Amino acid sequence: MQRITILGATGSIGVSTLDVLARHPEQYQVYALSAHGRVAELAAQCRQFRPQRAVVGTAEAAAELSRLLEGLPVDVAYGEAALCEIAASPDTDTVMAAIVGAAGLAPALAAARAGKKILLANKEALVMSGQLFMDAVREHKATLLPIDSEHNAIFQSLPSQYARAPGESGVAKILLTASGGPFLNRAVETLEAVTPAEACKHPNWSMGRKISVDSATMMNKGLEVIEAHWLFGAPAELIEVVIHPQSVIHSMVSYVDGSVLAQLGNPDMRTPIAHALAYPERIASGVAQLDLTTMGALQFYQPDYARFPCLALAFDALRAGGTAPALLNAANEIAVEAFLDERIGFRDIDRVVRRVMDENEHGAADDIAAVMAQDARARQAASTIVAGIVRH
Ligand code: NAD
Ligand code: MG
Repeated sequence: MQRITILGATGSIGVSTLDVLARHPEQYQVYALSAHGRVAELAAQCRQFRPQRAVVGTAEAAAELSRLLEGLPVDVAYGEAALCEIAASPDTDTVMAAIVGAAGLAPALAAARAGKKILLANKEALVMSGQLFMDAVREHKATLLPIDSEHNAIFQSLPSQYARAPGESGVAKILLTASGGPFLNRAVETLEAVTPAEACKHPNWSMGRKISVDSATMMNKGLEVIEAHWLFGAPAELIEVVIHPQSVIHSMVSYVDGSVLAQLGNPDMRTPIAHALAYPERIASGVAQLDLTTMGALQFYQPDYARFPCLALAFDALRAGGTAPALLNAANEIAVEAFLDERIGFRDIDRVVRRVMDENEHGAADDIAAVMAQDARARQAASTIVAGIVRH
């Protein structure tokens, strides 16, 4: 029996994870669930999956959850320390890190330091603290399995895990596929006016609002380039982004002998979730088998960096190193939130991120305190720029 903690259980990844777990009750047992708001949804999940512990964002939410769960033996807590506790508890084996954004870093790191099996969806954690996170995984003998569909595909296409550096295993390129999001073919000059609803309407994937906007700007792919760098020890030059609008090939690895290995499947996150949960075994995920004969043409293009400046900014941050990716990530989180609140326009997102990157120094990412300080400074700088933007 594998005992599981799900951080961010009410989100898109959290719900898909519970869907897979519900198919295999004899193999998996839920130890703890967390959510930020959405207390009623978390209460329903607790009634179905009977975890020992549940964690929410605030004291008020905790009181509300306790009231909703009266009579059930669920220990209710709130706040970051409690999230770290359920991630590191000796009573759990596996942690699904599916909180969105920088808020997920501390509990994911706590899981790494406790030597857990970590299923990592929360890419922002790795973008912010890549070296420190990977060091913690190695030092504490944690197992890190990628949930992001592209990284899960690369993982499946690499020889014997990513233990060997790409240079030693004959890898010529990591080909990170990208759908291009909802605005791949929209006239560039009309992008100023797109609404949050349009930006969140992804053609292939159903996801949370933040990652949906990131997909529309292609910052998501930029964050994924940085994520791939850390997960697979690949330098920026080895990682190539390929636009593939159908999202059938989830990424590829190209080898020096001319071979290209790919992982294909219907675009449904339950596939990488089931893969990582059962690894190295395979379990059913509820996803329909891919029918290649009904699929039509698969297309591939080079990305247009003028249309998607966020992708170039992320490559810049990766090359700059140190706390530059944390700076990029924090500025982006503030800008996306402001866009979703309709305080800034869609194209303001890349402008805000660029200005924060241009106007702020980055330093060495020696410890988590340095990363969090950079994160805080970037949020401040981005908020000031956002406040100065007057919408017409
Ligand atoms: P979501 O917005 O649907 O869910 C986010 C979850 O995090 C919710 O349970 C929410 O309660 C919790 N949360 C939000 N803010 C929090 C805070 N401050 N403190 C604690 N908990 C908080 O997001 P999602 O789409 O499920 O994405 C989660 C993560 O997985 C993101 O990092 C995203 O980039 C990554 N990811 C998602 C997908 C996808 O298909 N949805 C694919 C690949 C990677
Ligand atoms: Mg992805």
